[in-house]
Amino acid sequence: MTVHFAPQAAPFAIAQQSRLDSYVASRSFDKPTLVMDLDRVSDQFRALRAGLGRADIHYAVKANPAREIIARLVDLGSHFDAASRAEIALCLAEGAAPSDVSFGNTIKRASDIAWAYAEGITLFAADAEEELEKIADNAPGVSVYIRLIVEVSQADWPLSRKFGCDRDTALRLLDYAKSLGLNPVGFSFHVGSQTRQAAMWAPTLDAMAIIWNDARAAGHDLSLINIGGGFPAFYGEEIDAPTAYAAKVIDMVEARFAGAAKIMAEPGRGMVAEAGVIVSEVMLVSRKSDRDMHRWVYLDIGRFSGLAETEGEAIRYQFETDRDGDDMGPCILAGPSCDSADVLYEKRPVLLPHSLKSGDRVLIRNTGAYTSTYSSVCFNGFPPLDVVVI
Ligand SMILES: *Cc1c(COP(=O)(O)O)cnc(C)c1O
Repeated sequence: MTVHFAPQAAPFAIAQQSRLDSYVASRSFDKPTLVMDLDRVSDQFRALRAGLGRADIHYAVKANPAREIIARLVDLGSHFDAASRAEIALCLAEGAAPSDVSFGNTIKRASDIAWAYAEGITLFAADAEEELEKIADNAPGVSVYIRLIVEVSQADWPLSRKFGCDRDTALRLLDYAKSLGLNPVGFSFHVGSQTRQAAMWAPTLDAMAIIWNDARAAGHDLSLINIGGGFPAFYGEEIDAPTAYAAKVIDMVEARFAGAAKIMAEPGRGMVAEAGVIVSEVMLVSRKSDRDMHRWVYLDIGRFSGLAETEGEAIRYQFETDRDGDDMGPCILAGPSCDSADVLYEKRPVLLPHSLKSGDRVLIRNTGAYTSTYSSVCFNGFPPLDVVVI
C-alpha cells in the first residue's frame, strides 16, 4: 500500500496542531497522555455540519467521551448517539436534551432501557425480536429504528457482521415493532469505521436503499434513515476533506432514500481523531541478534493502554520524534506490557530515526478517537491513558 500525504489537509492541521504542539512542547509528561484540542473539535464539527446539509449530527460518544468535548458539542448544537446508560447520563449531565440523545446500541440491558425512558429518551435501535420486546416492555410506545447488516465494507476498521439484520428480518421487525405498540420510524446502518473515500459508500448505500424501498412498498411509512459513522481521519493515507466528504455522502443519500424526512449521521472518529495527539516515550530500543534487520522499539503505550486499533495493523498511526531529521530505518513497534499480543506494527514496520533511544519523546498524531476509551484500567501496572483537554 502506498502512503500518500494529503497536502489539502495541511493548512488546517498545522494551524490546529500548533496549539497542541506548543502545549505539548512546553510540558513534561510522566505517563502516556492524550492531549485534546477543543477548538479543533469545534472546527471539525463545523466542517462536517457544513457538508451534512439537513442531516442531524449525533456524535458517537464512544469515540471520546471526555466531558469537555461533550459540553462543547452541546454548545455547538450537536446531538448524540449513546451506547449505554453511562453515556446517556454523561450527555444529559453536560446539558443535552433527552430528545437529542439516541440509544443506538442494539444490545441493551432491560433496566437501562427503563432508566433511559424515565430520563426522556425516545429513540432506540434494535436488530432482533428480543430487543424489541425489551424496549416495548421498558419504554412503551417509543420510536425505534432497525439496524441493517452491512455485508461488504471497504473500511479500514469494518464493523460488519456483529450488528444489524438482513432484509427479510428487518421487514419482519418493522411489523413486529408495530404489533408491540412501538413506533418503527426507519433504518440505520454503519458503512464501517475509517471509510477513507466518500465513493466507498456507494455499494452500501445501494444495498440499503433497496431494503428502504422494499419496506415502503410493503406499506411501512418510514421517515428516518440513520447513516451511522465512517467519516475518516487522516492517518497518512489520503482522505477527502470533511466538508467535501460529508457533502458527497449526503448527495448520495438524498439520491437514494426518497421520502426520508429525517437523516441522522453519527460521526465519531471523524469528529475527534484529528483533535488529539498522544505524548509517549521510548522505553527501549533493541535488536534480537547481530543479524536482526529491524530494531525493536518499545513504547510506554501499547495495545492495552490505548492503541487497540493497531489490531491486525488496521489503523496505522503516524509517529513523530525530535530526531526525525536523522537517518531513518524500519522498526518493529511494541507496547510495554508482558503480553506477546502487545505488538503494534510488525508486518509493516515503522520508519524511525536510527538515533532514537530510550527516554525520547514520541508523538502519535491524530489519536483523539478510540484511544482513551480502549485503554485498560491498569494491565501489568501500566496506568491508563491520561487525558488532558485544552
Ligand atoms: C461506533 C459507532 C459510530 C461511530 O463510528 P465512526 O466510524 O467512529 O464514525 C456511529 N454509529 C454507531 C452505531 C456506532 O456504533
